[in-house]
Amino acid sequence: MTLPGYIYRLKAGIKHYILEAKQTSSLLNNLREANLKYGFALDAGQLATLECDLITRKVTSNARLKEWLGVPVTGELDLDTWVNRILPDQREYVQQKWNEVITREPSGNFDMTYTLQATPIHKERIVRVKGRIIFNEEHLPSRVTGIMEDVTEEYAAQHLLEESEERARLAIAAGNFGTFDHNMLTGENVLSDRLYELFEVDKKDSNSNTIVANVHPDDRHLREEAWDKAMETGILCYEVRVIRKNHEIRWLRADGKVYADTSGKRLKMVGVVQDITDKKLADQQREEYIALVSHELRNPLTSINLSLALLNDSVTDPFVLELLGTITQQQERILKMTDELLNSSRISLGLLELKEDIFNLKDSLNKAVDLSTGLKINNRITFTGDADINILADRFRIEQVITNLLSNASKYSPAGSEILVHAYSQDSFVHVEVTDKGIGIDEEKLSQVFKKFSRLQDENKIKGYGLGLYISDQIIQKHKGRMWVISQKGKGSTFGFSLPL
Ligand code: ADP
Repeated sequence: MTLPGYIYRLKAGIKHYILEAKQTSSLLNNLREANLKYGFALDAGQLATLECDLITRKVTSNARLKEWLGVPVTGELDLDTWVNRILPDQREYVQQKWNEVITREPSGNFDMTYTLQATPIHKERIVRVKGRIIFNEEHLPSRVTGIMEDVTEEYAAQHLLEESEERARLAIAAGNFGTFDHNMLTGENVLSDRLYELFEVDKKDSNSNTIVANVHPDDRHLREEAWDKAMETGILCYEVRVIRKNHEIRWLRADGKVYADTSGKRLKMVGVVQDITDKKLADQQREEYIALVSHELRNPLTSINLSLALLNDSVTDPFVLELLGTITQQQERILKMTDELLNSSRISLGLLELKEDIFNLKDSLNKAVDLSTGLKINNRITFTGDADINILADRFRIEQVITNLLSNASKYSPAGSEILVHAYSQDSFVHVEVTDKGIGIDEEKLSQVFKKFSRLQDENKIKGYGLGLYISDQIIQKHKGRMWVISQKGKGSTFGFSLPL
């Protein structure tokens, strides 16, 4: 070989060697990195590694497996110790699984779950072992390699879930509920047989539109409104009547909840429907009874009222006059309560009839303020805005609402404080707001304010029955208007209503 030829070959050889060295070092680096990642994964996943020589029965593992089996980290671990740590009543199952893999699984892959206990005083640990049995040339098991995972918490959570699912199943069966599961992404519904039965629709030709085919036409909007509201609040709740084929009317109540993913995207609505006809009938009977009693009480109370007024005019003795004053006051309270009970019962029974007329709102506000003297309202009442508007409504009922708001504003405010009445029209509605500087209402109680019998102040000092706002709200709703409240504890409240123009 010539010298240049030799130098050329030498150079090429060196290059090749450098390249190989580089490749080997990069491979080594990759291997180190992979090993590191494997270590992190083992740590993060709370995994134990295992390697067992089935001939010597020696087990090689990381510290975690030794800890789980109650063997010192520096100590030796053998297969018999491991098997001894499996709960006795599960050893047969493990043996059976082992035999199955050896005889029927050519890959030697296995996956089994059982319970370990390091010593009788240690807590039990449910573990999942995944790995492979390696066979020698005679096809006899020679080695086992794999990982072990602690799944105790997963099992406990699963167990709790199964328990609560079972409880829910029992409650649904006991209450004879229908259930629905509405997928909000695809629009698909999973409805129970009982739900079809409650709405009296045929399962075969039903979809989300036909399911409500038998809902009373006057109540269909209630369901739609409730669904719209649920999109804001996440909670669905409505009560509707269903007309059955035999013309019988049944009341149904639906309660549901929207489930969203972590980004807030709504995924599904899950809920139950129950037949509440019996409860509705019982409520109705109770309301009828209350309406009857309060109606019967009204006549004698009115005549007592008249007699008291006559007596008041003919008596001069200051002691008797004082007594008469007390009796009159108490009698007025009973009369007010009787009126409120009668009104609320009639409303609940759907007997609130409106006698609509065109009238000027300003006149009604003035009248209510005039009445306020009789109602012992000792506050400065100031008007703002423009109430000189003609509206079509039941004048008596609207004045009842205004009087109630003024009387509450006074009742729940310090004597002499200012009450502001603001009226204005906007977007084809007239709005009236009554603002006081009184005790206000806790934010979390605000949603209950228009409910029947709700009294929100803890002190019993201020007399009332929790019916005035319920009645007012129902009157406004009947006019297709809306009532609302804004309040701050200790600062005051604004109660408002709107009526369509
Ligand atoms: P009540 O006869 O108890 O006043 P209402 O239905 O008129 O019945 O009011 C229901 C509850 O709402 C009251 O018991 C009170 O707790 C609260 N409330 C009503 N108006 C006001 C107000 N202006 N300020 C503070 N709380 C109020």
